[in-house]
Amino acid sequence: MARITVENLSTVYPNGVRAVDALDLEIADGEFFALLGPSGCGKTTLLRTIAGLEAATEGSVSIGERDVTTVEPGKRKVAMVFQDYALFPHMTVSENIAYPLRVRRQPKARQREVAERTARSLSLAELLDRRPGQLSGGQQQRVALARAVAIDADVLLLDEPLSNLDARLRLEARTFLKRLQQEIGVTTVFVTHDQAEALALADRIAVMESGRIRQLGSPREVFGRPADTFVANFIGSTPMNLIDGAIENGLLAVAGAKLPSPVDLSDDSKVIVGIRPEYLTLATGAAGITGIVSTIENLGVSSLVTLECPDGSLLGLTVREQHEPAIGSTVTAVPEQGRLLLYGKESGMILT
Ligand code: ADP
Ligand code: MG
Repeated sequence: MARITVENLSTVYPNGVRAVDALDLEIADGEFFALLGPSGCGKTTLLRTIAGLEAATEGSVSIGERDVTTVEPGKRKVAMVFQDYALFPHMTVSENIAYPLRVRRQPKARQREVAERTARSLSLAELLDRRPGQLSGGQQQRVALARAVAIDADVLLLDEPLSNLDARLRLEARTFLKRLQQEIGVTTVFVTHDQAEALALADRIAVMESGRIRQLGSPREVFGRPADTFVANFIGSTPMNLIDGAIENGLLAVAGAKLPSPVDLSDDSKVIVGIRPEYLTLATGAAGITGIVSTIENLGVSSLVTLECPDGSLLGLTVREQHEPAIGSTVTAVPEQGRLLLYGKESGMILT
């Protein structure tokens, strides 16, 4: 086990694309760390540079105390699971799992023993003699994981390992992965474009955009207090409300309402007001944002109600089914204490 230190790391492809851009990152020993961001933001490149499969153009990567920037991949003590699993189709499950040991010229008996032990812990014992083509997606995913953990790597790198599974299996595999990581305690970097997956699994999350980190924090921090409007937009299963506002006579004017401002700002300051639909409740007689109910979408346990406010802006809030208002009725949405966030109109950065 080991921590990972990335310093001023840039990875530039021969075609000039700067996929990782002067990035600093420290991942603690035993941590389950998620790299989250939209497609093309550089997650895979960062992971591959940590693994040594891409060369760093500038900066350094250390694993534990060792600077591995120029160390070849096979000597870094990292294990990687790729998005498409990359299993060998002509080998059995047992041979696939034992492959890294075979490459390291371990004795045959030892290969079989490790394959069996790992397969047991990943519920694959019945499948050792099958070939990948005879397995379901979820089983293939577990074989890929087994192959990665069969060697005692210091670091486990997972590139969207759940993205090829259907929704239900994905949830199961997610829980399974969390348990496995807790058991073996290996420092894990998990790449995903799925914010829910990152929030559910990770000790800490780095939200990436264009080769850089926009925010780094615990799931609670990143969800509860996104550092800028990019992160605010990206995190959350319902989109955060981001509505133009301004400070007038010491109050926050937003969507036709006047609310106490959560931040002390001078009059005429232009802001973007952020509030999650989950942190708004319907109430009468309280200070809130009034609007006409325009649509209601069923989300399962709750419904997403969209209000059209006097100034034309739209405000989403979630309610339990039994509290659904009538379409066309006028209602007031009240923000939960401390949940209103303000962002700079120009910078998009959170105002503290
Ligand atoms: P992500 O995993 O977040 O989707 P990638 O790391 O795959 O992002 O890609 C980051 C950027 O680098 C993208 O603009 C992508 O087009 C580019 N890129 C990825 N791989 C290569 C490559 N082998 N050669 C040139 N450009 C690449
Ligand atoms: Mg990728």
